[in-house]
Amino acid sequence: MTPISLEFYPPKNDEQRAQLDRTARKLKAYSPEFVSVTFGAGGSTLSYTPETVRGLRADHGLDAAPHLSCMGGTRAELRELLKLYRALGCQRIVALRGDLPSGMARMGEFRYASDLVAFIREEHGDHFRIEVGCYPETHPQAEDALADLRHFKAKVDAGADSAITQYFFNADAYFRFVDDVRAAGVGIPVIPGIMPISNFSQLRRFSEACGAEIPRWMAKRMQAYGDDADSIREFAADAVAAMCRRLLEGGAPELHFYTLNLARPTEAVLSRLA
Ligand code: FAD
Repeated sequence: MTPISLEFYPPKNDEQRAQLDRTARKLKAYSPEFVSVTFGAGGSTLSYTPETVRGLRADHGLDAAPHLSCMGGTRAELRELLKLYRALGCQRIVALRGDLPSGMARMGEFRYASDLVAFIREEHGDHFRIEVGCYPETHPQAEDALADLRHFKAKVDAGADSAITQYFFNADAYFRFVDDVRAAGVGIPVIPGIMPISNFSQLRRFSEACGAEIPRWMAKRMQAYGDDADSIREFAADAVAAMCRRLLEGGAPELHFYTLNLARPTEAVLSRLA
């Protein structure tokens, strides 16, 4: 079976909770190594991630790991969350800088994810396996691609054990990134983040915000399908599965699926890989 991990976002109402339950039940059949739960910066959203992690661990028996972002949280808040996750039995954290929702001005005490990685190591030694984010197509706020690589290496030097990429649709960007980081002396696993496609206009919005390129040939084809959602899903599942095959054949250690709490698009890719 393809080695995978899955990413969920924390539901905020009963309907979303029921949807995540259905999705987790279905995708558990693919034996994910772990599942992760995203984290929204600041305020009342702070409690949703721990609740979701607890539920996925207790109700579904999944190895659920929280994302923790430092941009919106104080040192004291982050310390409390780490304590809570340790008490829940978590041994893995996805450590990020995070993005603040637009209009939100609050800054945390740490500026970069490397500061958070160092803080987790200071507070908890080797207890947590620390995953960090990385960007084969370059983070949109980086000064330039080489600076972004140096900053990625700083997270590894601070103690990251493994990295998950931003999603991309161009396998060569991943292979080149892995070659570059290996040449820079970084030996940790680099797990491709995979975005199964269910909705083209949503994908286009996300991709503009996070700097992921939708290749012209894919965008043109999906545009041409217009409102024909089934054709978009079929085409996209074929294209994403073909890329996944290339990634695995080229040495990717595992695939991390951005599920958006939906089972079907991820299953469509996984069933093509089986
Ligand atoms: P960093 O590694 O801190 O990098 C951010 C930017 O700062 C980059 O441009 C980098 O080049 C630059 N930089 C880093 N160090 C320095 C330095 N010393 N000097 C100058 N520039 C520097 N966001 C959320 O809010 N919640 C989530 O749950 C979440 N989950 C994610 C999961 C994955 C796998 C990935 C890839 C991203 C996720 N994100 C999430 C998005 C992420 O928070 C954003 O991409 C964010 O803008 C950058 O986070 P980072 O941890 O990569 O930051």
